[in-house]
Amino acid sequence: MKENKVNYVDAALKILEKKLEDFELPTPYYMVVDGHDFEGDYCYDCGLKEYDKLRNEGNTDLALRRECSSGYISDTPTHCQECQKMLTYTLTEEGVKSELNHFDYFNDHELALNSQHECFALRAILNRYHEYEDSKEDMEKLAFRIVSSA
Ligand SMILES: [Zn+2]
Repeated sequence: MKENKVNYVDAALKILEKKLEDFELPTPYYMVVDGHDFEGDYCYDCGLKEYDKLRNEGNTDLALRRECSSGYISDTPTHCQECQKMLTYTLTEEGVKSELNHFDYFNDHELALNSQHECFALRAILNRYHEYEDSKEDMEKLAFRIVSSA
């Protein structure tokens, strides 16, 4: 029985991987002013605009830095604070729980597997399957829903 559940997670991840083959979310950027990291994430375009704005306001010790390619390890999905564009991220255990709650809330809705953003969000949860023991059962339920909706 246990074997079957694990297979749903693998099967769901395979479905999501296929849908995300040609898809990549932008890497987050962040601002460093006078040697201090400023809170908030930007897409590259908005980061550049903010950089120019701060420079025009007289800041000279400025840097726009790129986060690593897997993004922040975060409690929530990451968005650009200016344009709200979704940026790449990896979920913490808290983040996995909160995302599982989010999808469970819409339990009676079909998953939007035609949306690559939704597929990315689902993969971000299931990618942590082997790490977060407490959430395994809920992840298996979600995986079953993905396999059934595909
Ligand atoms: Zn932006």
